[in-house]
Amino acid sequence: MRRVVIVGAGLIGLATGEALLRKGAAVELLERHPALGEEASGAAAGMLNPYGDAAGPGPLLEWVRAGLSYFPEAVYRLESRTGLDVRFRAGGMIEPAFSAEEEKALEGIHRWQSAAGIRVEFLSPETVREREPAVRSGLRRALWWPQAAQVDNRRLLEAYSAAFEGQGGRLRLGTAVEHFLTRGNRVTGVRTAAGEVSADQVINCCGAQAGFDRGLPFLIPTEPVKGELLSFRTERPLFRAILQCGDGYAVQRSEHELIAGTTSQRVGFDKQPTEAGRRKIFSVLERLTDRLAGHAPEGHWAGLRPASPDGLPLLGPTPLEGLWIAAGHFRNGVMMAPATGRWMAEAVWAGRPLNGLDAFLPDRFMVS
Ligand SMILES: Cc1cc2nc3c(=O)[nH]c(=O)nc-3n(C[C@H](O)[C@H](O)[C@H](O)COP(=O)(O)OP(=O)(O)OC[C@H]3O[C@@H](n4cnc5c(N)ncnc54)[C@H](O)[C@@H]3O)c2cc1C
Repeated sequence: MRRVVIVGAGLIGLATGEALLRKGAAVELLERHPALGEEASGAAAGMLNPYGDAAGPGPLLEWVRAGLSYFPEAVYRLESRTGLDVRFRAGGMIEPAFSAEEEKALEGIHRWQSAAGIRVEFLSPETVREREPAVRSGLRRALWWPQAAQVDNRRLLEAYSAAFEGQGGRLRLGTAVEHFLTRGNRVTGVRTAAGEVSADQVINCCGAQAGFDRGLPFLIPTEPVKGELLSFRTERPLFRAILQCGDGYAVQRSEHELIAGTTSQRVGFDKQPTEAGRRKIFSVLERLTDRLAGHAPEGHWAGLRPASPDGLPLLGPTPLEGLWIAAGHFRNGVMMAPATGRWMAEAVWAGRPLNGLDAFLPDRFMVS
């Protein structure tokens, strides 16, 4: 049996661990925080966006389109194994245009996405009003993505960890990895404050912190991009679909909880929510609806999206034999967790790079 150590119990580490257990590996997952969900996977909004914020055709678009298709099966498996409800809802996504300029921008998006085979349609103001009465009046048209869906990412973390432990995986919280252990050009395990853990294969799933071991002879160039979110208590759901508005959005997470975001800043590992962030999110909400005017948010937090220099994830082997990486999922790591887990498990199990995912090979950055 292969002994695998995974570093980092965000959604990517947990999904990879769960998939490897199903292959028959012995998996130990080490997480530095004493609880799950302290980093991006707990902070996210849980949108499953069928174009993943891609600005046009290319590897990012192909990756998210392939990845989204793995989601429903993962939800079914996790919920039936654990009895937990991850609040997966395929309610679609709407982006209204309130000005001629916004309408023109939506026409451009509609053009390239339809040509790329994404299901996207225009809705009339009457249809939007019928489906989403809380949206402000005065819109010209709206775009509608019927394949968009949402999940409660915190519940998804719980379900993955319950499924992982239920299948015999060992999850060690409060266990920070200090560095990787090597012999020659091979990884042999990891060093933690509590001692060494040896392994045949090690997978670095540390998100924005994936470059934590400065002693490696190559660079892992992940970088944090801060994003803030607000949550509101709602008497009853305000929206059925995800509502997008430029770079902001609102997601009705449950009957009584609405999440709204977001901001995007490169300010290092700072996770402090700010007054400027709160104002920016309120300005998005005010454009979408007048139903939250005067409501104080119940929650305000920030998380760090794991970014890479070219906006694509790092998935696959590193120049150090036995050391793998799955990081840099940026805005799409919740949506891509089931797919990344499956692809990484297949590659690590077979001992070869991921099929058809050459654009994401980590060695594009790793000059030793
Ligand atoms: C505000 C915001 C909104 C978002 N919204 C969405 C969304 O709607 N849809 C979507 O798909 N994605 C969204 N994302 C992106 C998504 O959250 C991330 O891409 C995803 O969570 C990355 O998962 P991960 O497991 O790679 O990283 P993380 O969740 O950051 O997990 C990495 C883990 O590694 C651990 N770790 C780090 N170093 C060590 C070490 N030395 N030893 C042990 N453990 C270590 C960390 O503590 C952490 O728990 C959002 C992100 C943010 C911040």
